[in-house]
Amino acid sequence: MVTLSTEILVIGGGATGAGVAWDAALRGFDVVLVDRRDLAEGTSGRFHGLLHSGGRYAVKDPRAAVECIGENRILRRVAADCIEDTGGLFVTTPFDDPAYADRFAKGCADTDVDCEEISVAEALASEPRLNPEISRAFRVPDGNIDVWKTVWAMAHGTQQRGGRILPYHAVVAVHREGDEVSGARVRDARTGEELDVRARVTVNATGAWAGQIAEQAGIEGVRVLPGRGIMIAMNHRLVNTCVNRCQMPTDGDIIVPIRTVSVIGTTDQHTDDPDDHTVNQAEVDAMLDDGEKLVPGFRKARALRVWTGVRPLFEDAKAGDTDTRDVTRAHALLDHAERDGVGRFFTITGGKLTTFRLMAEETMDAVCQQLGETRPCRTATEPLPGSESGENYVLGERLARKEASLIDEQMICECELVPRSRLEEAITRTSSTNLDDIRRQLRLGMGPCQGGFCIYRATGILHGHDGMSAEQADRSLTEFLQERWKGVWPVLYGDQLRQVRLDDWIFQGVLDVEHLPT
Ligand SMILES: Cc1cc2nc3c(=O)[nH]c(=O)nc-3n(C[C@H](O)[C@H](O)[C@H](O)COP(=O)(O)OP(=O)(O)OC[C@H]3O[C@@H](n4cnc5c(N)ncnc54)[C@H](O)[C@@H]3O)c2cc1C
Repeated sequence: MVTLSTEILVIGGGATGAGVAWDAALRGFDVVLVDRRDLAEGTSGRFHGLLHSGGRYAVKDPRAAVECIGENRILRRVAADCIEDTGGLFVTTPFDDPAYADRFAKGCADTDVDCEEISVAEALASEPRLNPEISRAFRVPDGNIDVWKTVWAMAHGTQQRGGRILPYHAVVAVHREGDEVSGARVRDARTGEELDVRARVTVNATGAWAGQIAEQAGIEGVRVLPGRGIMIAMNHRLVNTCVNRCQMPTDGDIIVPIRTVSVIGTTDQHTDDPDDHTVNQAEVDAMLDDGEKLVPGFRKARALRVWTGVRPLFEDAKAGDTDTRDVTRAHALLDHAERDGVGRFFTITGGKLTTFRLMAEETMDAVCQQLGETRPCRTATEPLPGSESGENYVLGERLARKEASLIDEQMICECELVPRSRLEEAITRTSSTNLDDIRRQLRLGMGPCQGGFCIYRATGILHGHDGMSAEQADRSLTEFLQERWKGVWPVLYGDQLRQVRLDDWIFQGVLDVEHLPT
């Protein structure tokens, strides 16, 4: 069996794990990062897209609010290219307790969240689709963050410093030598081959799965309550600002504009299984009704797809029940030497996407302390690869690029403006034969047609690369279509239903994908 040796083994390639790997690499450590699937395929790739200002937690969870605003300010600099500065609004609709607005303003002041009350007229002028019955409005520095760009930028930065990034490598056993963890055995999900990773320190950054990995190390009682939430992407930017209802956090009270869509979310249901991606129709209907409260006519817009994510909510001593909204959104760092007498092993879980950098910094500070090394954190000042200019992402960038190369560039995905050269570059760079992995990197097939027009073109191009067999290309196509179907069936009404019928004719009627040799 092949054995890799490293200083830091990071288990979990979501935002937190990639953040730990990037932090460790910047401190000069040798790193190996493993994930059982593609990077950011867990909760990070299934989140709402909001770079929190902290406003959402200003009343209910002040510690989380303070962390969010601090990280918001840092990430705008170091992950500039991954962030769109949309700004945020908290508005009091007729469905909200009017008294909450004053508590909100005070909460923001107490937690240092920048917050300015503006007139209703100003709010409606900036967001004309907002409910005209709103009675108060506050501006906060919310934004959106492209998680795939962020996570892959950290992964590439780690690789540039000698780190090894191993997606599709699931940990199947955590190695213990007496009172210490010495690494893990991982299995390549694509070949079935196993390899041992020997490490000075192992960091468990598996979010909602953290309890499972801790158990593999023989540690009981790391309880992470999985809180499942659904989100729905609508096919337009119905708003251009992140719009929140000014009330205690509840279901369906935020609309986040991100890239070409707006996303409403979310619910929060306890589940026992972090891989539970159940979508039930009642939740979808309730979410669309909630959208109406913020943007009247919301239901008439075209819903593109629904997806779920599972929050890693670390259960602290205070949380006695399973109401996941009441468990703190702050994170938990467990030094298992102190907690369980098991050295060289740390768990970092909970928190939010917005706070991944801070979580990584605290983790690597604790690792350095245990190793007796002084290596300061650099992630608050060192820009991610691609963010060196400090310029935030601007909607319309892709269109401007397209217009500049109108004649000579073949367009593969019209909805998300993905030209052939970008697709070919991504196929070569990732060596991936999985169209769904490529989708996450390029947003291929994520627009209104949900792959209807682009994905057979992309399959042909994929097939032309590196002698891939027709069967492999067909399999990638059918897997992609099945993944997309999971998200579209719960919102089949109106124009999207018509679109799906058309896609169905293309794939079943013309291409007969069901009978392709796979
Ligand atoms: C519905 C919803 C909406 C949200 N919206 C927001 C938001 O708008 N803004 C915000 O800041 N936060 C939001 N969050 C919270 C945020 O998404 C999470 O806190 C964050 O993504 C967690 O990242 P992570 O890296 O810790 O976990 P994950 O992204 O889940 O990463 C854990 C990784 O571990 C891997 N793994 C598991 N088992 C193994 C194994 N055996 N071997 C190897 N790898 C393994 C998984 O594949 C996964 O990739 C939301 C969460 C949910 C559920």
